Amino acid sequence: YVAKKRRNTYKLYLPMMNNVPTKEIVLESSMFEALESNQFMLHYQPKLEIGTGRIHGVEALLRWKHPEFGMVSPLEFIPIAEKTGFIILLGEWVLKTACRQVKVWEQMGMDSILVSVNMSMIQFQQRDIVASIQSIIAEAGVRPEQIELELTESIFMENPEQTLQILHELQSLGLKLSLDDFGTGYSSLSYLQNIPIHYLKLDKSFIRGIVTDIRKQKIFKSLVVIAHNLNMKVVTEGVETTEELQIIKEHKCDLMQGYLFSPPVAPDRFAELFRTSKASGE
Ligand code: C2E
Ligand code: MG
Ligand code: MG
Ligand code: MG
Repeated sequence: YVAKKRRNTYKLYLPMMNNVPTKEIVLESSMFEALESNQFMLHYQPKLEIGTGRIHGVEALLRWKHPEFGMVSPLEFIPIAEKTGFIILLGEWVLKTACRQVKVWEQMGMDSILVSVNMSMIQFQQRDIVASIQSIIAEAGVRPEQIELELTESIFMENPEQTLQILHELQSLGLKLSLDDFGTGYSSLSYLQNIPIHYLKLDKSFIRGIVTDIRKQKIFKSLVVIAHNLNMKVVTEGVETTEELQIIKEHKCDLMQGYLFSPPVAPDRFAELFRTSKASGE
């Protein structure tokens, strides 16, 4: 190997590094073409109303079928897209595709399906984010009430006042907003004081172990009370067992999402799920 001296630090270079690009580099450099050649797709995971068992909506989750690596997880490629800025283009594609899907389902007779789309903090740093979202929704011909944006508290890291302003604008357009991954990161209660959101989404790390962990149950129960007092509904993600469902039901959680009912599925599969769940009236 050769060690190169750079600003008083040494970096290791293995000879093969010069020839074989890392997976990250391959992913980074093939993203644009991937979008052009339809390697990205959306899968949809239902959210259920716990009280009635009705399907309340679906979350769009991005999938990348890479010709070399097969299915690549968004946990792997979203950070790369955020680093390069490609997430802006990709995020617009996601919103457009989700809106079109709503229309397709509507034409199949599945009306008032709420679709939620995950948004990256990088998208929020765009100056014209509200106008961009508004025009995508208008062009697709869906009502803003049919679209929900899932945001994480990271959007407040830079310029919190401007972020708050943007959230108010999005809300007054009629969009639904939800705070995703609550319970990871800082999850500061001070965010909850000010932000205009409709749904608080408790991260799946919250539900893991809840069946045997009494303290976790107490925190869960208290968070539901806080959210309800702030006129928010609570969504628990990552529900995998009936025991977990039983506990969150006892503690008055409003909505659930997780493998117990369904993993994220292709649009056609969701249409089937929707029909059978309607027919059985569960
Ligand atoms: P998220 O928004 O918190 O999505 C929930 C993740 O949990 C999804 O992983 C989902 O498949 C998974 N999940 C759902 N139910 C269960 C369960 O019962 N058990 C377990 N163990 N996992 C469950 P996925 O699809 O791999 O997405 C990971 C993350 O990638 C998402 O977390 C979100 O932060 C990000 N992401 C996905 N699609 C997009 C997108 O279109 N735009 C942006 N900006 N981020 C996205
Ligand atoms: Mg989400
Ligand atoms: Mg989440
Ligand atoms: Mg998450």
